Amino acid sequence: ASIFAAVEMAPRDPILGLNEAFNADTRTTKVNLGVGVYFNDNGKIPLLGAVKAAEAARLETQPPRGYQPIDGLAAYNKAVQALLFGQDSPLIANAQAVTVQALGGTGALKIGADYLKQLTPASTVYISDPSWENHRALFEAAGFKVETYPYYDAATGGVAFGAMLAKLKTLPAGSVVVLHACCHNPTGADLTDAQWDEVVAACREKGLIPFLDMAYQGFAEGIEPDAAAVRKFAASGLQFFVSSSFSKSFSLYGERVGALTLVTDSKDEAARVLSQVKRVIRTNYSNPPTHGGAVVAAVLTSPELRQQWEEELAAMRTRIREMRKGLAERLAERGVKRDLSFVTNQRGMFSYTGLSAAQVETLRTEYGIYAVSTGRICVAALNSRNLDYVADALAKAMI
Ligand code: PLP
Repeated sequence: ASIFAAVEMAPRDPILGLNEAFNADTRTTKVNLGVGVYFNDNGKIPLLGAVKAAEAARLETQPPRGYQPIDGLAAYNKAVQALLFGQDSPLIANAQAVTVQALGGTGALKIGADYLKQLTPASTVYISDPSWENHRALFEAAGFKVETYPYYDAATGGVAFGAMLAKLKTLPAGSVVVLHACCHNPTGADLTDAQWDEVVAACREKGLIPFLDMAYQGFAEGIEPDAAAVRKFAASGLQFFVSSSFSKSFSLYGERVGALTLVTDSKDEAARVLSQVKRVIRTNYSNPPTHGGAVVAAVLTSPELRQQWEEELAAMRTRIREMRKGLAERLAERGVKRDLSFVTNQRGMFSYTGLSAAQVETLRTEYGIYAVSTGRICVAALNSRNLDYVADALAKAMI
């Protein structure tokens, strides 16, 4: 018999399954609010001008494609640290932070999770309730028990901060706490600066290991303000992990550009930690690909391209905000009585609408509007042409 004869079919990825159903839908009015991708007002994934320019320059020089170092491109890793901590951070000056290029944010989380399993095998990992659906699977695949801490308050569309903090304060020392640095996925609800201070204090008091997931730097308020949580941890003197993704902020989804950063206590510690993280990488995929990291590094280190990128990122951020505002206004005009301030207060690409799975199903069957069954919609998939149509359908579902 075949060695695969008894293999069972794994469950379909809920979001990728949604894409397949959307692609098969023949209605011209269909709208896909399920995916976690930024689309421009024409409904297309943009190729940023700064990226095009960096790619053109790279093509011009026709660089050879030798292996990269295990930890990736040094200029890239350096630029990532500056984005996270600020150019003048003592962590950078003291060489206390280790950054390795990774295969997107997911790859960074995976390298971090595998390394954590070596460092602190008995820890439990705590993720927000709800969280990006891959967090649980990824940390479980690395061998951890995964639990949740309260996060979303359905009544307000904001963070259930009291419950979250109370839970963090009950966790045993050495617990790993996965925190969304900004633009929480899936809810769009973020902590305030003052709340972050309390989370940092709780991590210190309880001896927790913070793992910040930064997949949307620049999508909420801007590159610097969106790093506020990371900067608070950086200033705290604690050790922590950060996964960065440039999939969204550079619109380079398929190039898999991300990074894992570990903040240690000293330069000496950093060198030893890097040597161990490199072993994790070496035994997984040896070293990262060249193109995406080289393009991002070129943009971040050229003053002109950096300026252009910041403008393009600001345009994406502004367009998302306009869509949030436009949606909230249209829903109110259509008689939705619920307080809709959460739509404009939530940040980043996603919004939790409060729609039930049954209402989401109705949106799909009657209007060809696809959303995740939890009621999460991708606000970045709204545009000036589909906004009225979506508002009509959502208002009917909400009233
Ligand atoms: N973390 C969060 C919270 C995300 O939303 C995403 C992407 O959707 C990722 C990580 C993964 O990013 P990447 O696509 O770069 O692997």
